[in-house]
Amino acid sequence: GLPAPALIADGVTVAYGDRRALDDCSFAVPAGSVTALVGRNGAGKTTLLRAAAGLLRPDRGTVTVLGGPPGDRALPRIGFLAQDSPLYRQLSVAETLRLGARLNPGWAADHAWELARAAGLPLQERVGRLAPGVRARLALIMALGKRPDLLLLDEPLAALDPVARAESVRALMGAAAGGTTVVLSTHAVADLAGVCDHVVVLDRGRVRAAVEVDAALAGHRLVNGAEADL
Ligand code: ATP
Repeated sequence: GLPAPALIADGVTVAYGDRRALDDCSFAVPAGSVTALVGRNGAGKTTLLRAAAGLLRPDRGTVTVLGGPPGDRALPRIGFLAQDSPLYRQLSVAETLRLGARLNPGWAADHAWELARAAGLPLQERVGRLAPGVRARLALIMALGKRPDLLLLDEPLAALDPVARAESVRALMGAAAGGTTVVLSTHAVADLAGVCDHVVVLDRGRVRAAVEVDAALAGHRLVNGAEADL
């Protein structure tokens, strides 16, 4: 039969105070897919990724990742890239990678070094002196460093120059080809084509559609809410 989904949201509801960020969200992310969460600012994309990473607990509903709850057992198998990734400006690239090995359960050191070398990162340079696109590549490598089965990325392509963007897409494709399920958020519909194969459209905390990317791009109205923010 079909492989189990890598991520299942079942009736997920999250409120911050009396502000409801996610409202009864249900969808499944096929294992091995590259899935985009799209929706305008405030639609709930970040909240959903944080729930999937186990960083917050839904008020109602459940998130299942890699066959279980997003707890300690799943953590070594999940890579997470926050929107403003906390890299230490004073550390060199090499020190950053060594810190990754210390802080991340499941870290695959050889893999991380290989990615850094393949990306041509200047290992002795301080993070604070890296060009933004290069820093973004390092942040992505930090998320890929444990060779995760599930990679969660919050707006990984936003604000990248074309070169950094192409390289980041290539890195994501490489991870997907290696068997990693990728879930990324974006509010740019232009990010979808050639990158994602599935799309979940969020609108004010609710799932408006969960479809294959061709259907999303063909039925333009589905993603109009996202496109309004371009
Ligand atoms: P963006 O594209 O701006 O990151 P998003 O789709 O990721 O938006 P969320 O960040 O998940 O959306 O926010 C969903 C809703 O929850 C928004 O209305 C936001 O203002 C609210 N919200 C998010 N985080 C908090 C918080 N820590 N405290 C209060 N409200 C919050």
